[in-house]
Amino acid sequence: MYEPLVGVEVHAQLTTDSKMFCSCKAEFGAEPNSNVCPVCLGLPGSLPVINRKAVEQVIRTGLALGCEVGTLCRFYRKNYFYPDLPKNYQISQYDEPLTFEGVMELTVEGRPVRIRIRRAHLEEDTGKNIHLPNGQSLVEYNRGGLPLMEVVTEPDFTSAAEVREYLLQLRRLLRYLGVSSANMEEGAMRAEPTVNLKNHATGQATPKVEIKNLASIKAVHDAVAYEIARQRRALEDDEPMQQETRRWNEALQATTVMRVKESAADYMYFPEPDLPPMQPAAEWVEAIRAGLPEVPMARQARFVSEYGLSEYDAGVLTESREVADYFEATVVACGDAKACGNWVMGDLMHKLNETNLSIAECPVSPERLGELIAVIREGTISHNIAQQVFPKMWATGQAPREIIAAEGLALISDSSEIERLVDEAIEANPKAVADYRGGKEKAIGAIQGHVMRATKGQANAQVVNALILEKLKQ
Ligand SMILES: [Zn+2]
Repeated sequence: MYEPLVGVEVHAQLTTDSKMFCSCKAEFGAEPNSNVCPVCLGLPGSLPVINRKAVEQVIRTGLALGCEVGTLCRFYRKNYFYPDLPKNYQISQYDEPLTFEGVMELTVEGRPVRIRIRRAHLEEDTGKNIHLPNGQSLVEYNRGGLPLMEVVTEPDFTSAAEVREYLLQLRRLLRYLGVSSANMEEGAMRAEPTVNLKNHATGQATPKVEIKNLASIKAVHDAVAYEIARQRRALEDDEPMQQETRRWNEALQATTVMRVKESAADYMYFPEPDLPPMQPAAEWVEAIRAGLPEVPMARQARFVSEYGLSEYDAGVLTESREVADYFEATVVACGDAKACGNWVMGDLMHKLNETNLSIAECPVSPERLGELIAVIREGTISHNIAQQVFPKMWATGQAPREIIAAEGLALISDSSEIERLVDEAIEANPKAVADYRGGKEKAIGAIQGHVMRATKGQANAQVVNALILEKLKQ
C-alpha cells in the first residue's frame, strides 16, 4: 500500500525596512529598478552586510515553532545563472541554518497531526523577469535582495487537507508575529510542496515531484490532491516517473512538467566568503523568546476554555491578532463573552467588510460596543433595537446611551402603560383570545404582535408576555 509523503517549503517576505544585505528600501510599488545599489546588483567590489532585523524575525518565527536556534550559522552561495540574479548566485543558508527542528501540531478533520519543521532560515529574494507579449523581456531588481524566510517541513503530510491546514496556521502565526504579511495572492508568501508516494512495507517510493506556480492556499491544496492522484494512477498503469518540477495550471486544474529537477549538487553551494558566520548571543535569543506574543493556536484554545466559545468561533476570533485583541477588550468592558463574540463576528465584521475598513480603523471602540451589549443585558433595549443603534454609533461616534436617550429608543417597561396596550390588544383580537382559551397556545402571538406594533418594538417583551398571560387567566 503506497502512502503519500508530502513536504512543504514556504518562502515568506519579511517586514523589514531595508533589504537583506544592503540599505536599499524594502517597499512595494516603487518605480522599477529604483531601489537598487551596487550590493544588490552584484557590482564588483561591493560587500554585503547582514540585516539584524531580518535575523531577529527568523529567530522569532523559529522560536514560535519550537525550533532550536543555531549557535553558529553560516550563509552560503547558491550558484546558478539566471537574468533575475545579477550576482549569479543567491545568498542562502545550507547546512547551518539559523533555526531548526521545530514542530507544528495541527487538528485536521478532528484528528491530531504533528508536522516536524526541519528548518526556518534566511536568504535573499531574486529579481523578477517580465516577459512582454512582443517577445522582449525586462528585468526588475527592486525585489532582488529582499529578505526571505524559508520554512521547510519534513515530509510528514499525508493529505492535501493537512497541507491546507498547515498553511492556514502558518499564515496566521506569521501575521501574529508581525514578521510577514504572508499574503499569498500578493506573492509575500509562496508555498512549494514536494509530493511522492511510498510503500512503507517494501521501502519502494515514487520519485519526488516539486510543484510551483501556486498563488493561493486553495491552489496548493488542489495541486497536492491532484499530484497524489496522478502518481497513484501512474503506479497502477506502470508509467515511468522521474524526479521533476511541475507547474500547477489553474485553468486545467492539473500539474504539467516544468523541468527535470536539479539536485543540490547542481547548485554548487559553498560558504559565502564575504560574510562572517552568525553567532546569535544567548541573551539576545532569550530576549526575543520573552517578547513572543501568545501564539494563535494557544490563544484559540484559551478562548474555548476561558470564554466557553465553540472551537469554530474561537478560530474566527483569533484569525487575526487585532480582532482577538478587540474581542478581549470588549469582554473586559461588558463581561459577556458569548454576546461579544456574536457581535464581533456578526454586525461588526459585516460593517467592516461593507466599509472596507480594517479593525484598527473601526470607529466603534471595544468599550463602546461593550456598553451597547451591557445596555441590552440591562433590558433597556432589545437586541433588534441595538442592531439599529450600532450603525448610528458607527456613523456618529456617539455612545449607545446617548443615542438611545436622544432618539427615545429605550424599552417601555412601565407596566401601567403596557397594561393599557395589552387591554387594547385583547379587545381587538377576540378570536385569538377564544382560540387561546380553547387550547391553542400559539394564538397568543397575535396579541403580542399587536402590542409590539403599537410600541414599534419598544415594549419589554417579557413584561408584555407576563401581562397577557395574567389577563387571559382571568
Ligand atoms: Zn541594494
